[in-house]
Amino acid sequence: MNLVLRGGRVLDPSSGIDRIADLVIEQGRIAAIADPGGAHEGDDLDVAGRLVTPGLVDIHAHLREPGFEYKEDIETGTLAAAAGGFTSVCCMPNTEPAIDTPAVVRQIIERAGAVGSARVFPIASLTRAMAGDRLSDIADLKAAGACAISDDAFPVQNSETMRRGMEYCAQFGMTVMTHNEDQSLTVGGAMNEGLTSTVMGLPGIPRVSEDIGAARNILLSRLTGCRLHLLHISTAVTVQLLRWAKQSGAPVTGETAPHYLTLTDEACMGFNTHAKMNPPLRTVEDAEALKVGLADGAVDVIATDHAPHARHEKEREFDQAPFGILGLETAFALVYTHLVAPGVLNLSDAIGKMTVAPARALGLPVGTLAPGAPADVSVFDLDAPWRVDASAFRSKSRNTPFTDWDLRGKPVFTIVGGRVVKP
Ligand SMILES: [Zn+2]
Repeated sequence: MNLVLRGGRVLDPSSGIDRIADLVIEQGRIAAIADPGGAHEGDDLDVAGRLVTPGLVDIHAHLREPGFEYKEDIETGTLAAAAGGFTSVCCMPNTEPAIDTPAVVRQIIERAGAVGSARVFPIASLTRAMAGDRLSDIADLKAAGACAISDDAFPVQNSETMRRGMEYCAQFGMTVMTHNEDQSLTVGGAMNEGLTSTVMGLPGIPRVSEDIGAARNILLSRLTGCRLHLLHISTAVTVQLLRWAKQSGAPVTGETAPHYLTLTDEACMGFNTHAKMNPPLRTVEDAEALKVGLADGAVDVIATDHAPHARHEKEREFDQAPFGILGLETAFALVYTHLVAPGVLNLSDAIGKMTVAPARALGLPVGTLAPGAPADVSVFDLDAPWRVDASAFRSKSRNTPFTDWDLRGKPVFTIVGGRVVKP
C-alpha cells in the first residue's frame, strides 16, 4: 500500500533535507520527498505543522526477552519504542539464556517479526554467557542476524581476552560495543563517588573506573582495527578520550543517554532508586562536558539504555536495588526540551544523533529518508506540552526518575516499513 505524508516539515540529517514537503512511500520504501501539493497515488496523511523524520534508532536497549518477561518483553518493549518515536531497537544480550547462540538470535528476530511494533536488531555477547572468558562464535552469530557484539553490563576485564575478541570481531566487520569500567575500582559501588555519596554514606563508583575502561578499549581498537562503540558515556574525561581517539584515526564512536545530560548524582538523595544506574549519574561538570561533546561531534549518538525493572526490585534498599531506568518513552522529549529548546544542539543535529549516526555506528540499513530506504518514519508534534506519567507508559515497568517532569515534543505516530504504528 502507498502512503503520502502531506505538508509536514521533513527533516533528514542523512541528506541535509529540512523543508516543507510531501513524503511519498511506496511498497514499504521511501519513494520521494516532493514539493507539497503534488499528485501522488496513495492514502493521504495530513501532517501539516508536524515534524517528519527518519524513524528514531535506539542502539542500546534491554527488551528482557527471553527470561525476564516480568520486566519487559519484545511486544511491550517495541510498543514503548513506538510510543517514543523509535522504529528500530537494538537489544542487549543480558537475557536468560543470553544472546550468545544463533538460536537465540533467530528466536528474537522471529518474535519481533510476529509481535513487534518496531524493528529489533539483536546484539550478541562477546563472551559466552557474558562470563568474560570464552569467546562466542562471532561468525555464526553474525550469520544468524546479530547486528553487533557487546557484553554491556558485564565488561570483559581481562585485556588479553578483549584483544582476541576485538581481533575476531574485526575479521567479520562487527562493531564491539563496550560498557567501560575497571571493576577492580568499583566493588560494591552504588552511585557516583563524590560529595553526595559521602553525605549519603554509600560506596562510590569513581569516574576514573569508566575512564580507564574507555582508554583501554580505545587503545585495543587502535591495535586491532576493530570498530568500537563506547556505550553510555557519563564522564568528562571519557569525552576527551573519545575526541582523542577520533583525532588519532581510530574507528571509534560513542553515545550518551538523556539522563546523563539532565540529572546529576544529587538525584540519588533520599535514596531514590530510580536514579540508580551504571555508569551512575555524575556531576554538573560531566553533564556540561557531554553537552559540549555532543555539540562539537565528539559524541556521536544519543541512546536510551532502556532498562526496565519491576517495582519490587526497585523498592529494595538503594545499595541492593538493580541498576537501570526506562528510556524509550521519554528520550525524544528530554532531548528536545533540554537540549534543542535551550540551544545546546540544533534540531537537525539532535535528530541525526538519534537516526543516521546510530545506524552508521553499527552499519544498520535504517535512519534515513533517502529514496529506496525502508519507510521507517517518525512524526512529532514539537509544541505539545506533556507531563511524564509512568502509569501511562507502554512499557511493563515504571522505573523512571522523570515522573511529573514537564516536557515538550510528543511523538504522534511511527511508520515501520510503510505500516503506520499507533502506539
Ligand atoms: Zn545497557
